[in-house]
Amino acid sequence: MPGIATRRDRDRSPLGVLATIVRVLLYVVLGGLVVLVLSELPPFAGWLAGIGGEMPQVGLVAGHWQNDSGAVCPDGLQEVDVNLAVARRVAALFREEGYRVEVLPEYAPKLVGYRAAAFVSIHSDSCVGGFSGFKVAHHADADPLGPAGRLAATLSQAYAEETGLSPHPDTITDDMRHYHALRKIAPDTPGVIIECGFLSDDRELLTQEQDRVARGIANGVIAFLQAEETAPH
Ligand SMILES: [Zn+2]
Repeated sequence: MPGIATRRDRDRSPLGVLATIVRVLLYVVLGGLVVLVLSELPPFAGWLAGIGGEMPQVGLVAGHWQNDSGAVCPDGLQEVDVNLAVARRVAALFREEGYRVEVLPEYAPKLVGYRAAAFVSIHSDSCVGGFSGFKVAHHADADPLGPAGRLAATLSQAYAEETGLSPHPDTITDDMRHYHALRKIAPDTPGVIIECGFLSDDRELLTQEQDRVARGIANGVIAFLQAEETAPH
């Protein structure tokens, strides 16, 4: 019937098409905003990253865990307890940032050929009085200018900044440089061992300020991962 527009006619008119396009665009923008907001929330960030398969995996060893006590102080303080508490705090920091992370025992079978974007074995030094400072070492056979060397350097710097501790390179032993886990992990996994401080003179930091210790380690590894990501390959 001429002069009376049915609903179908109106939808096909140029104005109707324009309205549909605007409506679709609005949905797209709204959807994008929702994803943006959600991606700021750690659980969703991890989930989104998981979909893309892009968020790096970080491997941590809690030194001596499920094997032995490590260093022991006269009053009974055990290295393994400090290492495990710190490792769990480091892992929590990585999860907050959306990274995949796991805490492994000292002799986890899966260390053989272990693959990750970064690998850190967390230890603490002896309870002998008069010593203070931390140490970071990569395997003796790793290229000092390669990824493991860069991880060691970045981690040292961040750890010193966060904890205020000084490096104590004089006491880096052959045991550290030939540490079993660094020999076992896959050759393309950048790995280091850190001695977070001495149970003797750095005791307060290691037992009362574990958040700072953990932040120092997490900050260093994240700075390394971000630098590797943006570096030309
Ligand atoms: Zn140890």
